[in-house]
Amino acid sequence: MKKLFDLLSVKQNVVITTHANPDGDAIGSSLALYNFLIKYDHNVNVIVPNSYPDFLTWMKGNDDVVIYSNEKEKARSLVNHSSIIFCLDFNNLSRINELGELINLSKSVKVLIDHHLDPVKFYDIAYHNSNASATAELIYELIEMINIDFLDKDIAECLYTGILTDTGSFKFPSTSSKVHRIVADLIDRGVNSSNVNGLIYDTNSLNRLKLIGFSLSKKLKLIGNNKAAFIVLTKDDLLKFKFEKGDTEGLVNYALSIMGVNMATLIVETREKIKFSFRSIGNFSVNDFAKQNFNGGGHKNAAGGSLEDKLSVALKKFLIAISKNEKLLNY
Ligand code: 5GP
Ligand code: MN
Repeated sequence: MKKLFDLLSVKQNVVITTHANPDGDAIGSSLALYNFLIKYDHNVNVIVPNSYPDFLTWMKGNDDVVIYSNEKEKARSLVNHSSIIFCLDFNNLSRINELGELINLSKSVKVLIDHHLDPVKFYDIAYHNSNASATAELIYELIEMINIDFLDKDIAECLYTGILTDTGSFKFPSTSSKVHRIVADLIDRGVNSSNVNGLIYDTNSLNRLKLIGFSLSKKLKLIGNNKAAFIVLTKDDLLKFKFEKGDTEGLVNYALSIMGVNMATLIVETREKIKFSFRSIGNFSVNDFAKQNFNGGGHKNAAGGSLEDKLSVALKKFLIAISKNEKLLNY
């Protein structure tokens, strides 16, 4: 870490980037670091691969975020003029699409801050801990090491968002007592937890709730001796409910909440590919499952992947993968 602190002791051109389809931890940790580093007069820019849902657009600094898919030339120039690139909440440049190729070619010092398993070594400096509940937890620790007095309400709200969303509202096993202590400190620094929860979770559109209702009543199925649950959403389903980014966020957790179910999957047909979201309880590693079968990865109990097949073919592959793992699912 000394190398990083030495670098940050003089003015730098900093780029902060995070994974595609950014979630609460991706945006929360990126904007927390952004708001912290601009206090030191660094020249800082956040670049995300593509857009993110409206429930994440209220954080301080949001208006300055550069969305690569909309502003490629600007992003390219910022990366080319940077001296440090922070890579937050992902473990492999392939997770950030085209932007990853750009960063791979850059001569800037690359700093990985992440909590996903098995990072690929593309970085120069890493602050990595797969036991951390969120990348936001690691950003908190970093700020604590540098200067906790600079952690103001705006930064605290960003960190709270990252931790809240990545712990499933303080429910996942990663929610240690330390997480609660950090969150208590964030509240002491001005976060109104009730307000932030409202901004994130009580901003549903009617269409989104209807899509959830439809998914649960018409699409939810049990397999693998009732130990696995899954939901398939087709392009037409999404169209019918005027799908917007973020509308299926958290849907897979309903499937996992069924008594006796150890593993749940959401399968979504997008324009480009078939996207899989996996969740599990206990020993079954969806990280391994996603890596072995769906070009993916993530964490032991939350992972994702994709296949560039037709939906029917992808579905067949999924069902075969489940049946091969039936023993592991029946613990
Ligand atoms: P989600 O299901 O919410 O999209 O993702 C759950 C977790 O799996 C996240 O930590 C995310 O970073 C990871 N993940 C999702 N999709 C992929 C993927 O295609 N490849 C890899 N390596 N990880 C993924
Ligand atoms: Mn995360």
